[in-house]
Amino acid sequence: MQVWKFGGTSVGKPERMKSIRDLVTADDTRKIVVLSALSGSTNALLSIGEALSQGDKKAAFSKIDELFAHYETFIAELFVTEEGLAEGKKIIEKEFSFISSLANVNIYTPRQDKKMVAEGEILSTQLFAAYMKEQGESVVLLPALEFMSIDADGEPEFAKIGEKLSAILLNQAEQILVTQGFICRNPRGEVDNLKRGGSDYTASLIGGAIKAEEIQIWTDIDGMHNNDPRIVTRTFPVRELLFEEAAELAYFGAKILHPSTITPAKMGGVPVRLKNTMAPEAPGTLITSKISGGAEIKAIAAKDNITAIYVHSTRMLNAYGFLRKVFDVFEKYKTPVDMITTSEVSVAVTIDNSERLEEISAELRLFADLEENDRNQSIICIVGNFLADNAGIAIKILEAVKHIPIRMISYGASEHNISLLVDSVHKNDALEALNEGLFKFDQ
Ligand code: ADP
Ligand code: ASP
Ligand code: MG
Repeated sequence: MQVWKFGGTSVGKPERMKSIRDLVTADDTRKIVVLSALSGSTNALLSIGEALSQGDKKAAFSKIDELFAHYETFIAELFVTEEGLAEGKKIIEKEFSFISSLANVNIYTPRQDKKMVAEGEILSTQLFAAYMKEQGESVVLLPALEFMSIDADGEPEFAKIGEKLSAILLNQAEQILVTQGFICRNPRGEVDNLKRGGSDYTASLIGGAIKAEEIQIWTDIDGMHNNDPRIVTRTFPVRELLFEEAAELAYFGAKILHPSTITPAKMGGVPVRLKNTMAPEAPGTLITSKISGGAEIKAIAAKDNITAIYVHSTRMLNAYGFLRKVFDVFEKYKTPVDMITTSEVSVAVTIDNSERLEEISAELRLFADLEENDRNQSIICIVGNFLADNAGIAIKILEAVKHIPIRMISYGASEHNISLLVDSVHKNDALEALNEGLFKFDQ
């Protein structure tokens, strides 16, 4: 069994959805096919929710009509037979009547919003399964809400997902099993989700939990590039990555993967292959536990909206226990720390979720002095094989960005990650300079 995930652009046009049929039926491997919403749908549903939260029902219903019209055009091009089209119509009419019922309330709650945003994946999977059936393929739709769950901290319940899904799979004989990415249930049994871009995470959770043969993430680019192709002009696909390297890149901003995608695949020992729906013959990127050597510096990613917090101990000597006290505060407010640097009496940390920053600062001030935070920072993460006894890597990196002010440097915590903190105004410049300084180009 393999798990194949197709992202928004891969299902966003009828002809793309048709080509997914060709891709998933090209060989005899049984597949769980995880689909995102059609590109633009999640954003559209969120904007309907926003209008409702602001009490603007008129705007919400006009957006709903617009989205419905989009789906009407979509199904008209997708289905080939009259029966197929009738089935497609039935699906969109039912789901849009549900969307309208969610919108037709006096007070729109976050609970309703979660149901609203889930409709993107619920629509795409039903339409794809109906199209596959119309084409005579052996297909079944497995509702993700029956097996994908998160705990009270929003963390996926990996073991439970595996048990539930394995039990469901025992009763399925079909060749292609379609399910929704992104959506899940929370401990209250309500519809919830794995945050933006979460379909990658779904695929990895499924693949890791059932120990699939392989997880394939199909998107609109040929694999993980060595740098952010939206910012840097000359980038190229990286053929092979270790789980650890890919995890660092995803966590530190490579948008091609949801930040947590690699963990479940690694736990299950399942290789992850990144493939391009627009160019299926391109090799893409293979992510495994062992790779055949290759370059020292593999790729660079950047994560924005970082806040740096500078904490100084008020006791000048013997400040053991100080770090524990600092990190207890972040734990209490469930705020992950990304970078850390220390000196004798000071520690600087970065966070990307500043929702609880005021409470954190107030509590830190009980035993420490705080310097003013730096907001709008970016972590630039350089990933590769940085074995401890290799000399000269740091100088290569710093030489490339010598014209850019660096706020923090993190080196040595992992053999696979060197991170720099820069003000976000310098991010694009830093990415471009590192690209030119660290990679060799043919021309
Ligand atoms: P999907 O809708 O299939 O989930 P995404 O838009 O989430 O696709 O991710 C693919 C996009 O990620 C690419 O089009 C590319 O612009 C962006 N991206 C950012 N960093 C990288 C990188 N290092 N390698 C490849 N793609 C990247
Ligand atoms: N549809 C969701 C989103 O746009 C999940 C995904 O595409 O992975 O964030
Ligand atoms: Mg994505």
